[in-house]
Amino acid sequence: MNKLVIVGTVAFDAIETPFGKTDKILGGAATYIGLSASHFNQDATLVSVVGGDFPQKHLDMLSEKKLDISGIEVVKEGKTFFWSGKYHNDMNTRDTLATELNTLADFNPVVPESYKDAELVMLGNLHPLVQASVLDQMTSKPKLVVLDTMNFWMDCALEELLNVIKRVDVITINDEEARQLTGEYSLVVAARKIFEMGPQYVVIKKGEHGALLFHKTHIFSAPALPLESVFDPTGAGDTFAGGFIGYLAQTEDFSFENMKSAIIYGSALASFCVEKFGTERMEHLEKTDIEARLHQFKTLTQFKID
Ligand code: AMP
Repeated sequence: MNKLVIVGTVAFDAIETPFGKTDKILGGAATYIGLSASHFNQDATLVSVVGGDFPQKHLDMLSEKKLDISGIEVVKEGKTFFWSGKYHNDMNTRDTLATELNTLADFNPVVPESYKDAELVMLGNLHPLVQASVLDQMTSKPKLVVLDTMNFWMDCALEELLNVIKRVDVITINDEEARQLTGEYSLVVAARKIFEMGPQYVVIKKGEHGALLFHKTHIFSAPALPLESVFDPTGAGDTFAGGFIGYLAQTEDFSFENMKSAIIYGSALASFCVEKFGTERMEHLEKTDIEARLHQFKTLTQFKID
């Protein structure tokens, strides 16, 4: 069984979509990645930080999903990272209303001793120096490092971000962020420019329009499942990343061919995430739900050409 280290935020989110509004609910990149990856046969730890205001029930829920939470530091006198966002009517774009780093501002991640030799590392969205510090703590070179990031870090820590991007195998990023990072409109050209920064594989997420996987001159396109109801896209990108790396950890095959399947798994898991607010749908997802949806993906994309 492959071991997986996941670093990212464990957070409070307040979300507004055309369908409603939430108060502070459970969120965070590492939360979504972990919940998604927990559906695969691997051994994962979450490395993150929360404040004394973080309810124990959320930590218990993550443990119940068989995620190791010994790498989540609780700063009793601190406050948990808080993010608030408002989605536009198309649900594909959003405005960030608040990002309060709180305990994340001076977070020194500590990878649990028993995970320092993990085969896979998922650098979820947070400060690039924290992402780099996790890589520095690994005692043996991971077989695969995947990095996710967002425009916030491009705006406030670009140099540090470019330094950590150099050290990863796969980057997952959304279309808008790929354009911001490279200054290129064409996603094909943007992916080529990202190859020059270090990663050999580039995954560009396009929200309800699916995802693209680039490697050398190869491109693979995965659709997003057309859904009747999308309530809240928050965490879909992280859920996608969790499904992607979870599947790779389970299959222990990091080839381009297998990454194509991983992208479909990631897309299938992300399609559940958006059906309810916050983590609710992901907390109650069953294996049979995933299997049925993978089947839908298959029928959606199969066709014959004579
Ligand atoms: P996604 O919708 O996949 O981009 O992820 C949304 C999650 O990312 C939310 O649950 C937030 O708590 C978290 N998040 C938002 N902004 C940041 C940030 N600047 N750094 C790390 N995590 C963030």
